[in-house]
Amino acid sequence: MIRSAIPPSPFDVVIVGARCAGAATAMLLARAGHRVLMVDRGRYGTDTLSTHALMRGAVVQLHRWNVLPAVIAAGTTPVRQATFFYGDEPVSVPVAPRDGIDALYAPRRHVLDRLLVDAASAAGADVVYGTRIRGLQRSEAGRVTGVVLEDASGQVRRVSSRVVVGADGLRSAVARLVGARTYRVGQHATATMYGHWDRLEVGAYEWYFVPGLGAGAIPTNAGQVCVFVSVPASAFADLSSHQPERAFLELLAQVAPRVAEQIGRAGRSVLHGFPGEPGFYRHSHGPGWALVGDAGYFKDPLTAHGITDALRDAELLANAIDLGSDDALADYQARRDAASEEVFETTDAIASFGWDLSGLRVLHEALARAMSREVKQLVGASLPRGVGTHAVR
Ligand SMILES: Cc1cc2nc3c(=O)[nH]c(=O)nc-3n(C[C@H](O)[C@H](O)[C@H](O)COP(=O)(O)OP(=O)(O)OC[C@H]3O[C@@H](n4cnc5c(N)ncnc54)[C@H](O)[C@@H]3O)c2cc1C
Repeated sequence: MIRSAIPPSPFDVVIVGARCAGAATAMLLARAGHRVLMVDRGRYGTDTLSTHALMRGAVVQLHRWNVLPAVIAAGTTPVRQATFFYGDEPVSVPVAPRDGIDALYAPRRHVLDRLLVDAASAAGADVVYGTRIRGLQRSEAGRVTGVVLEDASGQVRRVSSRVVVGADGLRSAVARLVGARTYRVGQHATATMYGHWDRLEVGAYEWYFVPGLGAGAIPTNAGQVCVFVSVPASAFADLSSHQPERAFLELLAQVAPRVAEQIGRAGRSVLHGFPGEPGFYRHSHGPGWALVGDAGYFKDPLTAHGITDALRDAELLANAIDLGSDDALADYQARRDAASEEVFETTDAIASFGWDLSGLRVLHEALARAMSREVKQLVGASLPRGVGTHAVR
């Protein structure tokens, strides 16, 4: 239930961060019968800095968990083809109907995250917004035994919990509080600028590339299309200069002239900019704590795979917490790393912008193979405890 105040502890699990990673984890744990508290410093049903193309793995997860019908009912445009433009040359890939799905979707984050929070809440999780983590409680042996939270009015509450999960994003406070070490970093980072437009003639995922520049068009909710431009992070200053709209359109015209022309006619949109951040893996478990989503593992957005990772790893973590041992949490990290390594490496190579167009095609083929293996694993996995009664297979 979404509450205005923190209910009395103890909880089995406290989750900090109520977006795709945290809300999916909360939903799965609550369905398995755990007492879950999820807090977020933000507000219910809001957007966040992210485009939102879901890859097949994410849509498969939403289907397995029976959340996909709500995503479709929210008016999210079905996407039945992805077209890659290597310079002028288009390569189209149909979305094959299998694994229980016949389309991909790119719900806005204020839609997807809200639906996952609603599903967590319906399964019995307590959700409190306007609340941030201030500290951790520990046993004498150093085990994390709860959190110190500050609510919107500034009141501080100590909450006991068997496990604390940091699902609080790239700059995770939980990771900082537990001293989670980063053990692998990417070499490259891209900057992104994006907006949303009405009335564009885009019915597929469209990904555009010329040397040194990328762009994409992603159909989403309410008939809108998200359009982004990506450049090496070192060029972000040019993109976000005093005339960002002009810089955005000029770059878009170089890589995706047809989309740029339509945007020129469609009018203005609010533009959002991300300056870039190299990917990383953080140590993501310890006695009484774990990290999930961007808090524990981040990769450049250019391959649009972060939400898919978050939904895959939410299930791995929920299963581990359900098993209940520290070894299971260690196994969660090992499984996450094995499942994500190829996508991480290929994404880093794509984010280098060090390719020519034929080299980029080879990288995209490698990415497609890695994503197929990922989907196979997801489809082959047993449903988490308690999900069977909610899932349509
Ligand atoms: C520009 C850009 C474009 C992207 N495009 C795509 C895409 O097309 N497809 C895709 O799959 N992925 C994309 N990604 C990646 C995707 O956005 C992330 O992987 C995803 O948001 C991770 O979700 P999360 O739940 O782990 O964290 P987040 O979405 O970052 O959520 C973290 C939550 O934690 C809360 N929080 C933070 N600190 C605290 C605190 N101290 N106390 C309480 N709450 C706290 C925040 O309020 C927030 O709600 C993109 C990313 C960027 C930056």
